[in-house]
Amino acid sequence: MLAEKLGFFHSISSQLGRDYIKSHFDQETLRQKENYEKGLLFDSDWMFRIVQQKTKEIFEQSQEQGGIIYDGSPRTLYEAKELCNFLTGLIGRENIKIIYIDIDENELRRRIERRLICNNSPEHVFIKSGNLKPGSPCPESDGILIERDLDKKEIFDVRMEKYKKETIPALEFLKRKHKVITINGNQPIEAVRNDITRALDL
Ligand SMILES: [Zn+2]
Repeated sequence: MLAEKLGFFHSISSQLGRDYIKSHFDQETLRQKENYEKGLLFDSDWMFRIVQQKTKEIFEQSQEQGGIIYDGSPRTLYEAKELCNFLTGLIGRENIKIIYIDIDENELRRRIERRLICNNSPEHVFIKSGNLKPGSPCPESDGILIERDLDKKEIFDVRMEKYKKETIPALEFLKRKHKVITINGNQPIEAVRNDITRALDL
């Protein structure tokens, strides 16, 4: 929604990672590919390098009005520190906005169990309903809706544990060093959107 509204690039880390492993075959990348196929997350330093490279590319292309919505990283303290340092040098601290969508764990679990993702564009995300089920055509007409293995219960638990261990420290760092806007994620999608739009003064 934000990317569309602002005309910014939507950077989805997992997608950047997947694209990278399709076209690079060095030892390190092959190791990341193996981990990814097991349902593990990409390593922080590897992920950061790819996000950084993409960021440079985007800002070189669009120097005036450009911007990036980061989705999926920074996920660890390492990535948060590196990305904030890098962006501060590139665009200035005042141009970095951080949004924390705070959601109850049970609600998150409930939503992920009902989540469908387009097999062609991972930014097309829907909730299962009467006419949207696995195998339905994507309402944006470019693919088929699927349930991702990554959204299964066992992986959810592993990810949640990783979140508490690795992402919470990143969030604490961001809260100390930058302004973090907290949005209540337990509300319906529309209300979350409105709160973000209002908080960013858009
Ligand atoms: Zn789609």
